[in-house]
Amino acid sequence: MKQLAERTGNGKIPPYDYAMSQIGHEMGHRWSAFVSAKVGGETIELGPTHWATGLQVQVAFPYQRPTEASAMGGGVWQDNYDGTFTQLDDDYYVPATGWSYLDLYLMGFISPTEVPDFFILRNLVPAGHDSNGHAIFKADRTKITIQEVIAAEGPRLLAVDQAQKNFNTGMVIVVEHDKTPSPKLIESVNGIRERWIDYWTTTTGHRSTMTADSK
Ligand SMILES: [Zn+2]
Repeated sequence: MKQLAERTGNGKIPPYDYAMSQIGHEMGHRWSAFVSAKVGGETIELGPTHWATGLQVQVAFPYQRPTEASAMGGGVWQDNYDGTFTQLDDDYYVPATGWSYLDLYLMGFISPTEVPDFFILRNLVPAGHDSNGHAIFKADRTKITIQEVIAAEGPRLLAVDQAQKNFNTGMVIVVEHDKTPSPKLIESVNGIRERWIDYWTTTTGHRSTMTADSK
């Protein structure tokens, strides 16, 4: 509820927010969060299957709040430059959030050169809260570059200029045997369909499109 209270704009929760968080997260598992980075001689796991809590994965194109962590976990961390870090957004994907630059690279929507350097915090030790209620941790910071991810995993195939950009989602209504879907159920599914198309183009920075047509 505290996160919801941070929302900007008209102050209203977008409809079907839980549906967006769930569908977005599961869709994200097509690409995330399974990669490692080779840093110096060390291979550092950044997941799996969700980004490590200490991974800096600020969302590139937020869905509804100015500061969002990836729908696939991780966090948004403020370095206090005294050995402590403030957790501005956590790894829980409700309310719905968008994608980090690392996610967008793995999804095939941005090139490696568009991924800013990020970092992972390890050995997290709780160290209180700030005046806004954000948790503070002591931790060890390790810088990560996309080239170090590529060193561990190889380059993405297909590369950004050939990767799939247009997607279609099938939506299925399940009812009990011999029953037909109520008008309200059909209306809800259609509402989710419309929000999903908007969520996807918004959170991918319009690099990708979504349809939900039965074909
Ligand atoms: Zn998951």
